[in-house]
Amino acid sequence: MITRILDIDDNSLSLSGKIISGGGAVAFPTETVYGLGANAFDNSAVENIFKIKGRPNDNPLIVHVHSGYDINRLVSYVPQYANRLAAEFLPGPLTMVYKSRGNVSAAVSCGLDTLAIRVPSHEGAQKFLRFLDLPVAAPSANISKHVSPVTAEHVFNDLNGKIEVILNGGKCTGGIESTVLDCTGEYPVILRSGLITREMIEKSVGKCGEYVLKEGEKVRSPGMKYKHYAPTCKTVMYDKNNLTAAVSCYKSNVEQGVKAYILCDGSTAELLPAEVKNILNLGESEREMAFNLYDKLREGESKADLIIAVTPSKNDGIMKGVLNRLTKACNSL
Ligand code: AMP
Ligand code: MG
Repeated sequence: MITRILDIDDNSLSLSGKIISGGGAVAFPTETVYGLGANAFDNSAVENIFKIKGRPNDNPLIVHVHSGYDINRLVSYVPQYANRLAAEFLPGPLTMVYKSRGNVSAAVSCGLDTLAIRVPSHEGAQKFLRFLDLPVAAPSANISKHVSPVTAEHVFNDLNGKIEVILNGGKCTGGIESTVLDCTGEYPVILRSGLITREMIEKSVGKCGEYVLKEGEKVRSPGMKYKHYAPTCKTVMYDKNNLTAAVSCYKSNVEQGVKAYILCDGSTAELLPAEVKNILNLGESEREMAFNLYDKLREGESKADLIIAVTPSKNDGIMKGVLNRLTKACNSL
């Protein structure tokens, strides 16, 4: 199969519509990462997504809809706080989990009685979803466990030959996957952190929990238990407070002929001694770090034998989402 990267216009949308209605999958941009979408009502199309990615078949997918789509067609109950959050943050990088009506393919939620729904704000994603006027089940458009794609080229590198069309919407501005929020209880609970932070949700609706997987417990968001976001080269992680040890690690590896790179934020990069030449700089602000994270991990794996990630001590706000991804990328379970 020949894989083409196409700008989003009437021709590419019409071709994408034919592929989706024929049970195929199309990669499309969102403001978080690129998605690999299929018709959520079509069981074999959804199953095919798991095959293309090599995704474990108990890791449920998020259904994407355009901003005019009535989600009551898909879910049985939307609590008041969820309506409030939707009014404030959607369209945007927030996925909300509801009790499902059970009318999409059972493969979407891997047998769970809930459904995760997202309304992306990316203009290209909205055009694609509006054109189809269908719920589109879409995980990130990468081979399972690899670094998520934030450009059409990243998608091509992972899925060339496996899909026909990648809709090109430029580089994703968000850079990390959506916040996943359980909206089935009395108050919302974060299952995966992202750009819509706990602080933002609390400000809007007062209370917000955060799910932490306890040993021996059945996981509420199956994606949490898997290796994720990992570059193909070796990785190690150091806290910024331990910068001297990170630099020693770099030097000893370089002396042995290992192509080592330090991945860190801009302020840490300034503290590195001059002999550290190989730096993957994530930028200054939390937003910039999220924006650059996957691009730098992919750049790193193309150049380095070893990525030495140095992480800031801060772990709230958007940084929580960035560190969650970086930790999973480096300490791959
Ligand atoms: P990905 O598509 O790789 O961004 O992953 C989707 C994330 O959403 C995973 O962490 C899933 O566990 C989570 N997810 C999707 N559907 C549900 C659901 N019904 N209940 C809880 N988590 C879900
Ligand atoms: Mg993914």
